[in-house]
Amino acid sequence: MDSFLTASTRFAPSPSGFLHFGHANGAQFYARHAERIGGQFLLRIEDIDPTRSKPEYEQAIYEDLRWLGLTWPEPVVRQSDRFSLYGSFLHTLEEGGLTYPCFCTRKEIRAEVANAPRAPHGPDGALYPGTCKNLDPMIARDRIAAGQVHAIRLHMNKAAHMTGPLTFTDLDRGEILVRPNSCGDVVLARKDVPTSYHLSVTVDDALQHISCVTRGEDLLHATHIHRVLQTLLGFPTPVYRHHRLLMDPQGRRYAKRDKAITLRTLRAAGLTPADVIERIGL
Ligand code: GLU
Repeated sequence: MDSFLTASTRFAPSPSGFLHFGHANGAQFYARHAERIGGQFLLRIEDIDPTRSKPEYEQAIYEDLRWLGLTWPEPVVRQSDRFSLYGSFLHTLEEGGLTYPCFCTRKEIRAEVANAPRAPHGPDGALYPGTCKNLDPMIARDRIAAGQVHAIRLHMNKAAHMTGPLTFTDLDRGEILVRPNSCGDVVLARKDVPTSYHLSVTVDDALQHISCVTRGEDLLHATHIHRVLQTLLGFPTPVYRHHRLLMDPQGRRYAKRDKAITLRTLRAAGLTPADVIERIGL
């Protein structure tokens, strides 16, 4: 219940590139929403990916957001500091029999999907075909004991059976029925990292008492998964806002690879924060 005592939203960038126009759009949107609900705007650094996250990008996030005029409470949560915390929640799901180890390589998954032309697809392509779901637990244990790398997946059918039907409220779209199987048996702990986007975001949003989760509409599908995880872990349910994505003049989403529109390039070119906000058109 106490999550609703302090209304808050968050901006959760990954430090894998410099912030650009699209991020400025998101950050401004969330900060304004926080203002409207009389709550806090939190910043969270989502750096679970050790190969893509760089300290210089993290420093640039602070600098660029300050330049835009945004402020946030310190200390900022950095996900790479919280692996053991995520591990404890993963353990709860494992103890509940809701997970299974997955030894498949990407290549094996691709081959399996290619053999099943009617394999169900989700927002990121074909869903995991469930190859390791029915692996004999003794065999799985032996493979783990032998040091074979593996991910941990959520057994979504069991999870959905346990939660029953769920919904979430999107402040712009209304009440949405959760489709737990739209993304299949998602990864909760990657082979190279002891957590995943879905697990760490669900845990952090709950523990940081985020009452309104704000993010781009490209991540709307993730909310279906997060509602399931929240319910399994006994977390409160925030409300959601999934904002539209800003498009470039060619109608493509702004991306980190488009160096020309990073906030630091715009700043160096003499644009002021007010110019950026005007261009965003919020
Ligand atoms: N870290 C994600 C990103 O940079 C955002 C995740 C979220 O808002 O849930 O795209």
